[in-house]
Amino acid sequence: MPADLEFCDEQVLRLRAFTAFTRDQAVMREFADSLASKSASNTVARKVIDDLLEYSVSVPTVADIVRMARQASPDMAGPDAAAPVKCTVCLDDGYMPVTRGGYECSEPCQCELGRKIAKGAPVEV
Ligand SMILES: [Zn+2]
Repeated sequence: MPADLEFCDEQVLRLRAFTAFTRDQAVMREFADSLASKSASNTVARKVIDDLLEYSVSVPTVADIVRMARQASPDMAGPDAAAPVKCTVCLDDGYMPVTRGGYECSEPCQCELGRKIAKGAPVEV
């Protein structure tokens, strides 16, 4: 679940500590949208703004927000990384652990991805 947009609105307002930061509502909305969609949580969003206030020597841009939110949200690195896990058995790995003759091994899961693997179809990783 990305960060809360209302929360990010408030966080972006803190950037007014930079005297040259925009006072334009539409631009601030852009900042808040980017912050909310790229941060994994409100905690991450707050940290991004904290870091900008503490370390940034120039007026932050939307690109700065996006980059820092990504760095602070490693589990959201990929474009689809925020998607919920579809299969709780294999955690979208495609293989589930099984015990065969006392040995732990794995076999294709019963889910959509597991069936694709079982058929030998190409699978996007
Ligand atoms: Zn599965």
